[in-house]
Order: sequence, then C-alpha cells, then structure tokens
Amino acid sequence: MDKEFVVNDVHQTCHIIVVGAGIGGLTLALGLAKQGHQVRIFEQTKTLSEVGAGLQLSANSMKVMRSLGIDNALKTHHFAPQNACIRDYRSGRYYLKSALGKTAQTRYGAPYWHVHRADLHSILVQQCYANGVEIELNHRVMGYRNTKQNVTVLLEGKTEQADLLIGADGIHSKVRELMLGIEAPFFTGQVAWRGTVRADDIKHINVKPDATVWAGPNQHLVTYYLRGGELVNFVAVEERAEWLQESWRTEGNVNELQQKFAGWHPEVTEVLAACDKTFLWALNGRPTLTRWSDQRVVLLGDACHPMLPFMAQGASMAIEDAYVLAQLLTKYHYSDAYQKYEALRKPRTTQIQQMSRDNASLYHMHGGLAGQLKLNALSLVSRYAKGIVDSKLDQVYGYDVTSLPL
Ligand SMILES: Cc1cc2nc3c(=O)[nH]c(=O)nc-3n(C[C@H](O)[C@H](O)[C@H](O)COP(=O)(O)OP(=O)(O)OC[C@H]3O[C@@H](n4cnc5c(N)ncnc54)[C@H](O)[C@@H]3O)c2cc1C
Repeated sequence: MDKEFVVNDVHQTCHIIVVGAGIGGLTLALGLAKQGHQVRIFEQTKTLSEVGAGLQLSANSMKVMRSLGIDNALKTHHFAPQNACIRDYRSGRYYLKSALGKTAQTRYGAPYWHVHRADLHSILVQQCYANGVEIELNHRVMGYRNTKQNVTVLLEGKTEQADLLIGADGIHSKVRELMLGIEAPFFTGQVAWRGTVRADDIKHINVKPDATVWAGPNQHLVTYYLRGGELVNFVAVEERAEWLQESWRTEGNVNELQQKFAGWHPEVTEVLAACDKTFLWALNGRPTLTRWSDQRVVLLGDACHPMLPFMAQGASMAIEDAYVLAQLLTKYHYSDAYQKYEALRKPRTTQIQQMSRDNASLYHMHGGLAGQLKLNALSLVSRYAKGIVDSKLDQVYGYDVTSLPL
C-alpha cells in the first residue's frame, strides 16, 4: 500500500487531477477539496461560458447539493415543479400526474428543483474556487501513464503529475478511450432540440408549473419552468435515421423544429412559436463498460455511463457518483475506493440507463395502437394502483447516497 494513502482510518490527503469542468467534475472537485485533498481541474474549453439550458435536480441529487452546502445558493435560481406529468401530444389528456412540490420534500427527503445548467455550473465553479480548487482552462488532456508512485498526465504542450486522475470528461471521454481503447459512441436514433423562451412572451397560454412530458408518435417534448418562472425550458426529441455530430453548441433551425411539432397541443406549439434560438444534438450511447478504472485512474458521470435524457437523471447520476467517490477516496486506499465505487455505482446507473431506454418507447407510443394502450394502462395504474408508480419513482428520487454506509 502506498504511504500517502489512508492507514487505519487516518485521513491523508492527496493530489488529484480531474479532467473536465462539467457538472460531474466540479461536484467531485468540490467534494474532494472539502475533504482536504489538493485538486486541480483541467478543462479543454477556453472559457467557462453560459452554456446549456434546463437541468432537473431531483431529490436524490439535491441531497448531495445539501451535503455540499450549496442548496441555499441554488435556491435563488430554482423553480420547484408542482407535478411530474405525462400528457397526450394533441388532446393534453393526462396519462400520469405525480405530485412533486412539497410532496417531493416529504416523500423523498429533499426538494425537486429545475435549474439552468449555467446557474448550477457557475455556483459550482465559485464554490470550487472558494475551497481552493485550481481550474485550468484551455487544457486538453491527451494521455496518461500510471507509474508505481503516481500518474503522469499528458496535456497539449506539457505534462503534470498527480497521485490520482479522474476522468469526468463526458460522453466523448478521452480518458475512457485511453483506458479501454477507441470505440465511438453509438447513435441511439434520436436527436434532441433544446431551448428556452421568456415566460412573459407566452403568458396567454398559461404553461402549467409542472415538469410535463408531451408524448406523441415517434416524438416527445418536455416543458418546465426555470429561474423562478422567468423562463420556460423545452427539450424536443424526435427519431431519425441519420447521424449527427454530437455537440452541445450546434444551432438548429427554429422553423424546422416548429414544423415537426405542428398540430400538437397549444402549450407545445405556442412555446415553440415564441422560440428564436434552438440547439440540436444527437443522443448517443455506449455499451456498458467492462471496467471503470485502471490503476490510479477512474471514470465518472457521462464518461462511464451516458444515458438518454428520458429519466432526466444524467446530471443527477454524475452528482451521486461524485459524492460517493469523494467519500471513498477519503476513507480508503485508492484501489479499494475505486473497487467499492464501481461496485456501488454500476448497478444503480445501469438501472437508470435502462429506465431511460424504456421511457423512450413509452413516450414515443412505439407499436402504434399498442403504444397508445400502454399509455392508457399507465393512466389506469396511476389512478387506481398509484403505489406501483410511486414505488418506481421512490427508487430513483428516494435514494439517499449521503446516508449510505460507505
Ligand atoms: C456544454 C454543455 C451543455 C450542456 N447542456 C445541457 C442541458 O442544457 N441540459 C441537460 O440536461 N444537460 C446538458 N448537458 C449535459 C449534462 O450536463 C451532462 O450530461 C451531465 O451533467 C453529466 O455531466 P458530466 O460532468 O459527466 O459530463 P459533461 O457535462 O459532458 O462535462 C464534461 C466536461 O469535460 C470537458 N472535456 C471533455 N474532454 C476533455 C479533455 N480531453 N480534456 C479536458 N476537458 C475535457 C468538456 O469540455 C466538459 O466541460 C450539457 C453538457 C455540456 C458539456
């Protein structure tokens, strides 16, 4: 066992490099810094700019935000949806209406909030700086080499050393590629458009204060408020045979988007009519990885378990990962910590990946009439056997990673 790591529960700090200043990398860096580790993040982008749109921070990830002491900072920017709903794309009929709002707090032990990714990102960045994390922008990680004493990280133009290296570098993870070989992510046959509109511009249609999935044939669209109700966020998903290069910054054609959803319920068409800018990206996946670590190097978040956004759990899973890894690295030698981390997180993230895939078929009414019948059955179950729906949601939102005996 290396000298610099934990012996008999004595906490020793180490020098850790995190690749990627996304939600996962920043949450991890903050958690590690709070435990006394020396943390440096290398991020490939030149600036930490305002990118992205809405993210759902469900009760399970809000428990981590609370344990890191940033729930209050988020409060200024959040919107708490009253219900999680699935509605018919044309009639607006409810197939599911499950209470959130105050119920989330009492049932799941923490609130369920919507936040703008840029707000969450900037709070995490501020907190990282306040806790001594160094963030080096415009630094792309190109390679790594494990040695007995440390890990050497290769960046464009320089090398750095650390005790440990953590790849939180997203679905196109370079660290994953170096660890497991080149394997392009596969296209799931779906693309997503996202954007926000000012709530004041669509006052006349009275968008409900819910997280609403509008389910339709081979397409669906999600609407919810952000920033205390100032913005309405949408994510529109459609099935396509063609492959698109995945980027979070590819601008989409607003007219094309409006046409795709023409004839849908007015809450959908009016939101899209008010939109003047949209971004489009391909939804990609990866087969389950054979392992998540290689000696001193480990993966986190989308780098090891990207998922379709149909459970709205991508950010929450990266946040849960970050909590677990920061705690384990403080208690155990890194090789035990990595082993325990993968053993705990793989089943959980695999289950959520599967639930997300299942929702794709439900939201898109796959199977024509059979798909419609499935939604009707859900409607009956949610009305007359609510316990079945609740128990499924309890597994996701009721999970409390901060109270696990790690
Ligand atoms: C720009 C952006 C906008 C997004 N917008 C939304 C949104 O609107 N709604 C939503 O639900 N989700 C959005 N997401 C996705 C969501 O944040 C993630 O799916 C989820 O939070 C898991 O995050 P992650 O930290 O694992 O990966 P990511 O959020 O993808 O972060 C990975 C980070 O690693 C950096 N990186 C990658 N390769 C390297 C390298 N070789 N060297 C150094 N740095 C590297 C990337 O630039 C990025 O900052 C967005 C992600 C990004 C990157």
